[in-house]
Amino acid sequence: MLTDNQFLRYQRQVALRELGEIGQQRLFQSHVLIIGCGGLGSAAALYLAGAGAGRLVLVDDDNVEASNLHRQIAYRSYDIDSGKVDAISRQLSQLNPDVQLRSIARRMDEAQLSLEVMLADVVLDCSDNLATRQLVNRVCFQQKTPLISAAAVGWQGQFAVFDYQVSAGCYRCLYPFDELPDPKSCSESGVLGPVVGMLGNYQALAAIQKLALEQFFVATNQLHLFDGKAMQWQLISIAKDSHCSVCAAQVEEGIHD
Ligand SMILES: [Zn+2]
Repeated sequence: MLTDNQFLRYQRQVALRELGEIGQQRLFQSHVLIIGCGGLGSAAALYLAGAGAGRLVLVDDDNVEASNLHRQIAYRSYDIDSGKVDAISRQLSQLNPDVQLRSIARRMDEAQLSLEVMLADVVLDCSDNLATRQLVNRVCFQQKTPLISAAAVGWQGQFAVFDYQVSAGCYRCLYPFDELPDPKSCSESGVLGPVVGMLGNYQALAAIQKLALEQFFVATNQLHLFDGKAMQWQLISIAKDSHCSVCAAQVEEGIHD
């Protein structure tokens, strides 16, 4: 049963027929690993904290810069030069003191990441580099922990939920390399705050589906592409790569069966 204060705080989402008190209790018990606290992580973490996700683990080794503030909405001008995980934790605990927060202000190696993924119900990849994305995909695949991935640059965004319970393409099937041939950073290409926010919100929404309702209603293992000019989404299937260094073993098992 929810307490009176909990009912007041969460009434508008508990009122959702599919969610109800049971879904809210599931959210209270959930554990989410958020890798990267930039524009994606800011938006996702704020909404997950607001929704009452029980425990958020926030990972980022950067400090807040003035050029972050137009899109990384968890930060305020007075946060400049503060560590991002410290600054975002302050905002989140003010938003919802009931959420348990733990911050990790460094890049994790595979062993550390494996431990963190083991504790998590879902992982949000909100990072800004391909090496991290590949490592997170590999560890999540090994542990069959759902990975909710997003990226945004310029006017474009992409979003994908990797549900490794089903045999489908993984992140590495989609991008089978460790470095982008033509990496475009936000400082070179520019990026709009609402585009990043849109993608971060998608990550939070997908996480709430899985955590509160125990399933993804959004199409999983497909690439959702967002065009911020036309404001349209396009859905592209992710082909499973039979030579993928992460998930190909499953393909071989399938062939021998
Ligand atoms: Zn793969």
